[in-house]
Amino acid sequence: MTRRGAVLPFPGRPTEWLHLSPPALTGREIESLRLTLEAGWLAPAGPAPAAFEAAVADSTGFLTALATASGTAALHLGYRVLDVQPGDEVWAPTATFVATIAPAVQMGAVPRLLDATGPGFTLDPGLLSETLARAARRGRLPRVVVPVDLYGQPAEMDAIVAACERWGVAVLSDSAAAMGSTMRGGVHAGRGARLAAFSFNGNKIVTTGGGGALASDDPGLLGRARALAAQAREPAAHYEHETTGYAYGLSSVLAAVGLAQLPALEARVERRREIFATYAAALGDLPGLSFLAEPDWSRSNRWLTVAQIEPAVFGADREQVRRALDDAGMESRPAWKPLHLQPAFRDAPRAGGARAAELFERGLCLPSGSSMTPSDQARVIEVVRGCARR
Ligand SMILES: *Cc1c(COP(=O)(O)O)cnc(C)c1O
Repeated sequence: MTRRGAVLPFPGRPTEWLHLSPPALTGREIESLRLTLEAGWLAPAGPAPAAFEAAVADSTGFLTALATASGTAALHLGYRVLDVQPGDEVWAPTATFVATIAPAVQMGAVPRLLDATGPGFTLDPGLLSETLARAARRGRLPRVVVPVDLYGQPAEMDAIVAACERWGVAVLSDSAAAMGSTMRGGVHAGRGARLAAFSFNGNKIVTTGGGGALASDDPGLLGRARALAAQAREPAAHYEHETTGYAYGLSSVLAAVGLAQLPALEARVERRREIFATYAAALGDLPGLSFLAEPDWSRSNRWLTVAQIEPAVFGADREQVRRALDDAGMESRPAWKPLHLQPAFRDAPRAGGARAAELFERGLCLPSGSSMTPSDQARVIEVVRGCARR
């Protein structure tokens, strides 16, 4: 095992390579795995997935949760139970990861991509509201609206849900990166949506190595998702199917890892917020450099710290900073390239996109792993400062 826990050095990468957001162990994984395996549980059935689902529901405040093989699988199940049909529109912010919308596109839905707003660059509720009104006049409302909690920053769920409720449109929250983030009154990210998808991928704040969850306050909806996740088997001794499903369950082995990880969530939110605060204190004085800010009604888990670099003022653009960090053995990454600028979505209808494009041009995600040491972070800060105009 390396100094950084579970991550083996990649071929060609020095051992000291500092990753953007590597998985971190809590130290309780082996014990949890031992208990699960010794009890004979391996498959996506048994006490470990059920206990993990209860723990996810408890952490997020949803009534029920379904453990899935990935966050993308959870989103796919969400689209299925919300009955997305070929030709239906599904609306998402353009500033996001492709997985937000990919399953809907694969189901034959037409994505409509909306611009970002506010200091956190999340889906613009005003624009959503106007675009919904226009769509209603044309008689072409979306089947689903999918707000995204960008880099852990909760979207403006109250306003988004209000806009959608007016037209009876369902909300599926892509809260994949937002475990531990909260909104007004300490309400967990994703709450208010009919369904919320979470990810436990290796780069997320808590991880099963690979995994996800779909959560809801509607047990009927989640029960349908549960059946679809296990090949849509009807209750019968033989294999009986009224529809087709997926092999989307989370194995007991991975659920056991998740059970060891979830208790560390709050400490990790604290740690990632501290990493953000350290970057802000050490770099905030540099002209032309700012950070994605947190609206005062929310508390982001600060999954990734995202800097914004205005090249004319800063003296270097985000790509020059990225390369300087890379040369020094540190991984950083441009903010999401908006979907409307992706060749795969060239023809997708949209509403705006300039703000999301600006985020991509200027935004750089800095190393933010929970297990990053103060000296690791000091090295990042030194390289970024070195790029600034003197
Ligand atoms: C990680 C992530 C996903 C996908 O989750 P997986 O578990 O990797 O499938 C989807 N959307 C966003 C915003 C993410 O950050």
